[in-house]
Amino acid sequence: MFLFSLDLSRPGRRLLSAVLVFALPLSVGLWELHANYLRTLDRQSEQAATQAVQLMEVMLDHVEEANRTVAPLISHPCQSNLLTLRKQVALVPFVRTLNLIDENGIYCNSVMGKVSWQDEPDTYHEGFLRLLPGHAELSSQPMLAVRTESQHGAVLSTIDREYLKMILTLSAPHGGEVLLHVGEEWLDHLGELMGREPSLPTLANHSVQSRRYPLSIYAGLVLPSSWHSLWQVRRVTMLMLLGFSLGISLLVWWLLGRPGSMEGELKRALRAKEFVPYLQPLVAGEGGKVMGAEVLMRWQHPSSGLVRPDLFIPQAEECGVIVPMTARLMQTVAQQLAGWQDKLPDGFHIAFNISAVHCRDFSLLAQCRAFLSHFLPGQVVLVLELTERELLVADPHTLSLFRQLDELGVRLAIDDFGTGHSSLVYLQQFHVDYLKIDKSFIGRIGTESLSEHIVDNVIDLGSRLGLALIAEGVETREQAEYLKGKVTYLQGYLFGRPVPLRQFCRELAPSTPAKAPCTSLALCS
Ligand code: C2E
Ligand code: CA
Ligand code: CA
Repeated sequence: MFLFSLDLSRPGRRLLSAVLVFALPLSVGLWELHANYLRTLDRQSEQAATQAVQLMEVMLDHVEEANRTVAPLISHPCQSNLLTLRKQVALVPFVRTLNLIDENGIYCNSVMGKVSWQDEPDTYHEGFLRLLPGHAELSSQPMLAVRTESQHGAVLSTIDREYLKMILTLSAPHGGEVLLHVGEEWLDHLGELMGREPSLPTLANHSVQSRRYPLSIYAGLVLPSSWHSLWQVRRVTMLMLLGFSLGISLLVWWLLGRPGSMEGELKRALRAKEFVPYLQPLVAGEGGKVMGAEVLMRWQHPSSGLVRPDLFIPQAEECGVIVPMTARLMQTVAQQLAGWQDKLPDGFHIAFNISAVHCRDFSLLAQCRAFLSHFLPGQVVLVLELTERELLVADPHTLSLFRQLDELGVRLAIDDFGTGHSSLVYLQQFHVDYLKIDKSFIGRIGTESLSEHIVDNVIDLGSRLGLALIAEGVETREQAEYLKGKVTYLQGYLFGRPVPLRQFCRELAPSTPAKAPCTSLALCS
């Protein structure tokens, strides 16, 4: 719920969202890719070890078979056995030599014939297998010796390291290593014999023990870095993942940057300081001197240009954004106008339009206080214009706020007077100071006797209540002439259209060097 109420279009949050949307799928995807790659390597390594064990078992089956075949020859003289031994070596795969052992040791060798070599039965792993570094009289290369005990002695056959190398090399996975382990001895795929455990690769390592023979096969991978090797084999997938993450991140960036709801757009415009003050002069009912101004908001939209307030104020009021918008407007006007205060007539009337929703929170009081703090006492009269079309509820909270505003010296004007239904009681309850006669009545002066009559009635009502009157929408000299002496202030195109604040101030003080071309009647006179 909280997440949905977050305004993700704010620049910082928008960037954070885009970065998150980029980083999250990328890291999860890479992590899964890496884990999957490790699983594959692990499986390959296990398969390699299993395959090597199976091949070793097939080889040892043959060799053991040869051992059992010649076992009955033990105790017979070597010379009479030699032909049978050599025939077995020739016919049985993998057997390099066959040896007969009696109680005196090895007495017959298929290559050398009658020999007298020492027998070391205890050095065989589980009395069956031993990796030998070589034999002084036969070969200097390592070999695997297979011993089979029988009734009168034992048979010993040897397997050349080339067969062992071949099995280890063929089984090895890509970039991996496979080693044969018998007792304390290790043999690698290059045929190197090691008397103790070598430094084994730690990645995807697997050790598979033969169920039938006392040997095991170790398989592992020698990779500089698993990520580096992942990049080598899954480069396209990784680049696609990067592209995908970048794509959705850019999409999120674009979506969050799009004008969303009107509320979102108003908030964005507020942050971008696109709401600017325009000022329209108020002139004295007699004499025509500029005595103040009404601040009218404009939206300086980046693509649509200057937007009229009636096109966005109702929406801003609906969603409550009008409150911070007005607060910012008051702040801007205070900061800019304060620099010109020595050029302003004393008691300069400066009016803001305030929506009903703004009158429901006490922030208005603080905003008015902050506004007045920019000016010397008595330099300006701050006026809040409340439209009669949107009457306030006179509850204790609102009445208390207006009492405090009154104490602060803030004045209240009822705008568009004559178009709503404000009663006398209402005017008294809120301590209203000004009535602004709606421009629809002023516009009919001189054209319709009924409207003139209403204007006179309003003027009469105002003076009876002791309220000051402002006539808005004065466009002709005839209207101005009619109202002369009857109202406190006149406002309308006859005296000046709303202009940007700086222009207003420059026109108000024509002696300043940065004088702009004068556009308003009253200010030029
Ligand atoms: P409003 O408060 O009645 O403001 C007077 C409107 O009459 C202004 O229109 C002004 O430009 C226009 N006007 C002034 N003199 C003449 C004239 O001689 N003839 C004619 N025909 N029109 C004249 P604008 O600036 O377009 O503002 C329209 C309305 O938008 C305002 O009516 C006010 O209700 C609202 N508004 C403007 N700024 C703000 C603001 O800051 N806050 C709030 N809540 N409402 C604002
Ligand atoms: Ca107004
Ligand atoms: Ca008005």
